[in-house]
Amino acid sequence: MGEEAKHPIIIGLTGNIGSGKSTVAAFLREMGYPVLDADLLAERARELKRAELKALFPEAFHGEELDRRRLAQVVFSDPERLRALEALIHPEVRRLLWEELARLGAPLVFLEIPLLLEKGWEERLDGVILVAAPLEERLRRVMARSGLSREEVLARERAQMPEEEKRRRATWVLENRGTFEALRAQVWRLLGEIRSRFGLS
Ligand code: ADP
Repeated sequence: MGEEAKHPIIIGLTGNIGSGKSTVAAFLREMGYPVLDADLLAERARELKRAELKALFPEAFHGEELDRRRLAQVVFSDPERLRALEALIHPEVRRLLWEELARLGAPLVFLEIPLLLEKGWEERLDGVILVAAPLEERLRRVMARSGLSREEVLARERAQMPEEEKRRRATWVLENRGTFEALRAQVWRLLGEIRSRFGLS
């Protein structure tokens, strides 16, 4: 993102597990704004690069089928192979992103990226919205949604950058500690602020 001459305003949407990213994304869509999902783009990129992936990571395949967990295990312990994976997939994700942006032709687009700040992608975006909520609240929500145990959710939380650190790096923070309606109202207010900051009518 960044090098092309004329591009829409791209705002990243992030937050730790159970913070309410998907909920905010749904509100933004209801309000008429496109929200792209980086995980989905990455999934399409892996699919399009399947042959190259298989050549690089044969041990992560069962026949033609990629085992994503296995792939994650392989690269988790080997920075070199992680770089190889990213060198293959990231350019394809960027290509798919530009394709989507051109197709949408919208002046303002949101991009949901769970690990946005961990990856340091904020520099390439016009701003970052962090959805934040107290840990206990997030644990309760995710346990209710997924059936994961407290320990399992905590393990995922620990693999992410602490929310406090993310607050310092985000452009805007949505505090999701109340009702859905309270969150929706914050999203609406923030949209007004973003539109006026970027001179969108
Ligand atoms: P994330 O995408 O960040 O993991 P979600 O948007 O999926 O988070 O929210 C996690 C769970 O918590 C979902 O089941 C969602 O419906 C619920 N949730 C989110 N915000 C609230 C809220 N303000 N009040 C009650 N439940 C909420």
